[in-house]
Amino acid sequence: MSHITDLSFSELKKALNDRTLSSVEITSAFLDRIDALNPTLNAFITITRDEAMQAANDADTLISQGAGTPYTGLPIAHKDLFCTDGTLTTCGSKILSNFVAPYDAQVVSQCKNAGLVSLGKLNMDEFAMGSSNENSYYGPVKNPWDTTRVPGGSSGGSAAAVAANLTPLATATDTGGSIRQPAAFTGTSGLKPTYGRVSRFGMIAYASSLDQGGLIAQTAEDIAHGLGLIAGHDSRDSTSADQPVPDYTQTLNDSLKGKVIGIPKEFFDDRLDSAMRQAMNEVLDVLKSLGATTTEVSLEHVAEAIPAYYVIAPAEASSNLSRFDGVRFGYRADSPTDLMDLYERSRGEGFGSEVKRRILIGTYALSEGYYDAYYKKAQQIRRLIRDDFNRALGTCDLLFGPTTPSTAFVIGEKTADPVAMYLEDIYTVATNMAGLPGGSFQAPLINGLPTGYQLTGRAFGESMILNAAHQVQTVTDWHTLRPEGV
Ligand code: GLN
Repeated sequence: MSHITDLSFSELKKALNDRTLSSVEITSAFLDRIDALNPTLNAFITITRDEAMQAANDADTLISQGAGTPYTGLPIAHKDLFCTDGTLTTCGSKILSNFVAPYDAQVVSQCKNAGLVSLGKLNMDEFAMGSSNENSYYGPVKNPWDTTRVPGGSSGGSAAAVAANLTPLATATDTGGSIRQPAAFTGTSGLKPTYGRVSRFGMIAYASSLDQGGLIAQTAEDIAHGLGLIAGHDSRDSTSADQPVPDYTQTLNDSLKGKVIGIPKEFFDDRLDSAMRQAMNEVLDVLKSLGATTTEVSLEHVAEAIPAYYVIAPAEASSNLSRFDGVRFGYRADSPTDLMDLYERSRGEGFGSEVKRRILIGTYALSEGYYDAYYKKAQQIRRLIRDDFNRALGTCDLLFGPTTPSTAFVIGEKTADPVAMYLEDIYTVATNMAGLPGGSFQAPLINGLPTGYQLTGRAFGESMILNAAHQVQTVTDWHTLRPEGV
């Protein structure tokens, strides 16, 4: 028999429901594996062993009374920007290194209400700014496939933890690719839902008009289970969508016959690496063998997505991060001489260099005299990008492309060049600008390293994305490949 920690979320659910495993057995197996591997991988910032074992015990009692939900006792871990009542929430930053939230994020409460057991809090780029997890105050996360490489970012802890079987399911967030890019780099499945599908209440803000919570797991089926738990309307988030939540597991086995998959020609131009192109073609062949048809489409303005994103996201960040002033939250500089000194040194010492860069860019872009030239222009580009996507999705069920330009790069390779790092998001940011759902799922390995393909759906079309990815996963084994040696 395989180890408990090899099992996917769906397999563990079955084992719990069949009572072949208890929550205490499952939870302690994952905690032991975290203890063994986290010193190498650095995926967790906080491990909540005692709380997790207590919750697992309680779950087993409920199960024995027949009083649990179908998910009672299953493990999860949360990206460290979801507030958790009573445990540290750092957002990967020194400025929140001592912050204990007085409440749970909506996503965290939903998971608790469903009976899930939280194993702890996952490492991330500081304030979710980054594409490699090298911006964390808590140090870089290592890619379990090759510990000299990055796991992607900003949800690198979530992705590395799932890839190394430290948790079967992890929450994550995606502002410009932070769920999909790390999923691609670690051989996991990741879904960024439609903007507004998952509540942002208690999720520390980076760029509020782009941020969206989602999940990373081994399979599309696992995500279908998890999304049903965290999706839904929340009156405490004014941008939360009041839309019914379908049972995402019910449509996983729908046939793909007659489904039309659009191939944006801009994603397959001659800049696409040939090994990546070949991997994408293999996935497309599978989708076609399942009955889908493909058609070329154009997203004319997508090339402008990166420059526009890197105006809008820092602009919103500069405003959101003004609340961290050394007075109300977290880190405070020692012995301030006056109020300005308190502000300046708390922020100067508390924020890392990438966060400072974004605050400077954003403040500049929003300042009088530059607002029209930068922020307004970027919003106009955003509208054009959204129109491109909606036009393409008017005739197609899904759009298909690579998630990343290449496989995971080596730690340190891009840290000296912020623009090279920003270009990592070339295939992912446009989805956030359009507010649409996007998933990344396992494609064939390239030179022993994982790759991902990306599916973008219509607004609230998460079911279609998960259906297509699940169908691919039923006839391929890319999602079953695990890193060796960890
Ligand atoms: N890499 C992008 C950035 O640094 C996206 C991050 C994210 O999605 N949170 O902004």
